[in-house]
Order: sequence, then structure tokens, then C-alpha cells
Amino acid sequence: MAMAGGQPYMRLMNDKAPLHDFISQHRQIFVLTGAGCSTNSGIPDYRDAAGQWKRAQPMTFQAFMGSEAARQRYWARSLNGWRRFSRTQPNRAHHALARLEERGKSALLLTQNVDRLHQAAGSRRVVDLHGRLDRVRCTACGETIPRQAMQEALVGLNPGWTEREAAVAPDGDVDLEGADFDTFAVPPCPSCGGVLKPDVVFFGEGVPRERVEEAMRALDEADAMLVVGSSLMVYSGFRFVQAATRAGKPAAAVNLGRTRADSLLALKVEQPCADALSFLL
Ligand SMILES: [Zn+2]
Repeated sequence: MAMAGGQPYMRLMNDKAPLHDFISQHRQIFVLTGAGCSTNSGIPDYRDAAGQWKRAQPMTFQAFMGSEAARQRYWARSLNGWRRFSRTQPNRAHHALARLEERGKSALLLTQNVDRLHQAAGSRRVVDLHGRLDRVRCTACGETIPRQAMQEALVGLNPGWTEREAAVAPDGDVDLEGADFDTFAVPPCPSCGGVLKPDVVFFGEGVPRERVEEAMRALDEADAMLVVGSSLMVYSGFRFVQAATRAGKPAAAVNLGRTRADSLLALKVEQPCADALSFLL
């Protein structure tokens, strides 16, 4: 095994055989994916678990719940952002991981992404750790509605805003700074009148415990872990590598650049996700 920077992991640019071997040598692999898996689908590598584009100010749970103005700003930006987001398609990395599940090798696919592209590619055993952007949930009664229905309500209530698409930057961000958000109408829950929120985990909000427990049970069944496209900077993902390591299960990672778990990895592949996993297709 090559040593890189004193760490007991391999730093490989082109050789796919070690990752191929890692996957074939293990029976059930617990897969954790992050933003790097979706960049080839045109979704910028945002650090904001709430699914806002990188240039936007991260929205905290406290700000969203505490201020009507914050919600107006969020939904005004989201009105245009959703048009692009909802058209994204899975790429070869998503398809490769769906193939891994078809082969019976995937204990669970735990994703930090909120884009549902793993499901679109055919993966079935998926836990959306940080929620899903295609759904809106009432913070009062818990009812969920499709994000697309929310889109139609937003468009209906704010006809003038749909013409502001010229303000969409090439990277998909929406520059509405200085816009008059207090005229923007946000619909309440159709059932109880409560505050609607994207069904994603915002900054300042915990990941639901049952989601973590389901993932930890799947990690128990697995005999190895594979991280794809995540720097693991967010603790909610990093803790799974810690748990795997504690249980003596080797972890491999495919990621461009360092990860927070580099010193824990048995194998590190620094390649774009789709290239590194192409042997599964
Ligand atoms: Zn409600």
C-alpha cells in the first residue's frame, strides 16, 4: 500500500483496480454520497444542506422560522432556482451506484444530497440524510406537499416574479438582491395555515433521529463503507466513517481534494466520481 503524507491511504489518480478490488472484496457496502456526486448533473457543489445555491446566504432554521421577511426572501429565490433544479438529471455516478445496488452489494445508500437524483437513477434503498428538496412540509401539522405544487402556488400568487428569470446567473444562482421581497406572497399550509418549509434540514436544525438510526442499522449489516463525493466536513456525515472505523470496517473514499476523514480511510481515490465508478457501468 502506498503511503501519502504519512497517512495509511492510497492517493490514486488513474488506477481504478484498487477501488474495483475494494468493492469485490466486500459483501455489503454502506455508501455515503455528497455534493461531488451531483456536480456533473449541473448542481453546484454547495455546502448548504438546505439546497440553496452557494452564492446565496445560508438560511438558518431559526431565521426561516423567526421571520416572515426571511421566508419571503427564501421562496422568491427558490421560485427561480427550482426551475433549473427540477430539470436536473442523474449522471454516470448515480447510475453506477444504482448498478451496485442491483448487484446486491449495497447495504444502504445514505446521501447528503437533497436532489433525489439517486432515486431518479434507480437506487431504491436510499436514506436522504438531509431531506429532499422536491417536497415541502408544514412545520405545524406535518403535512407534506410536492415542491411542484408549491411552485404553482408561488407562480399564481406572484405573477410578476416569473419574469425575473433574466436575473438567473449562468451557474444557476438567482441574483435578486435589492429586490422588494416584502411584496412577495408566500402561501400557508393548505390544511392548517401553518408555515411551510422545504423538507430539508436547514443549518441550525438537527437531522431526524430515526433517519440516523436507520442508517446506523444498515452500517451494522455492512462490512465496508464507501464515501462518494463528500469532503465529510459536516458532522452528520463524518460520524458514519467514525462509526465504521470503530467497528473495524474499512472505509474507502472517492473525492477530489481532502476529506475530514482522510486519516481514517483504507483507500482514497482522488478522481471525479463518475470516472472512478465507471467500472460499475
Ligand atoms: Zn399544516
